[in-house]
Amino acid sequence: MWNTLLDLFLPPICPICQRTLHSWEQTFCLGCTLNLPETRFHLWPRNSMQQQLELLIPVYRSTSLFFFEHGNRTAHLIHQMKYNNQKYISDYCGIRLGETLKNIPDFQSIDLVVPVPLHPKRFRKRGYNQVFGFASQLAEQLKADYCPDFILRNKHTPHLAQASAKQRKQWIKDAFILSDQSNYLNPKHLLLVDDVMTTGATLAACGASILNSESRRLSVATIGCRLS
Ligand SMILES: [Zn+2]
Repeated sequence: MWNTLLDLFLPPICPICQRTLHSWEQTFCLGCTLNLPETRFHLWPRNSMQQQLELLIPVYRSTSLFFFEHGNRTAHLIHQMKYNNQKYISDYCGIRLGETLKNIPDFQSIDLVVPVPLHPKRFRKRGYNQVFGFASQLAEQLKADYCPDFILRNKHTPHLAQASAKQRKQWIKDAFILSDQSNYLNPKHLLLVDDVMTTGATLAACGASILNSESRRLSVATIGCRLS
């Protein structure tokens, strides 16, 4: 009742294109839902994201839900999720990707899902980590454990978006350590999750902290992927 009344005054809008949603549309408008640029990388073990990551770190499988380019629908979606506190977008992406991954044998052995952490300073400023919803929903779909503090960030890095690939690699080096949680959980196949992959430097640095300690299988999933 209240929601219906509220919708009369504040009709829900599509967070990607800002168009008012019809009553039958949920989360995004139909146009955006159907036209988000899916990569379907999970169907291609030797996809270009996998090949780019393999130059940096041994990775078993990698996928991204959408292609990311400046100004495209994925970029709008990520912006809303990151800076306008639209956490339900993160959940939506986790469910959308997880529903596909759970049917692919290579991803069925995943027993732990771990998000790339924000530095505590940035976490306090923003109040949340935009990847948590994506990661936890993926874990639920894959029937795997979810541990948001498996990895800790021990170095505050400047905003990476404006940095060159070389600067990025330097800043991110040794930025991650394993938390005490890793003493209790002993995953065999871990899925590392982030919002956007560009050079892969953050995922590689984070993944290295996981692979350093035990012989584990590491896979990677992101919401967006912008490949050079
Ligand atoms: Zn839309």
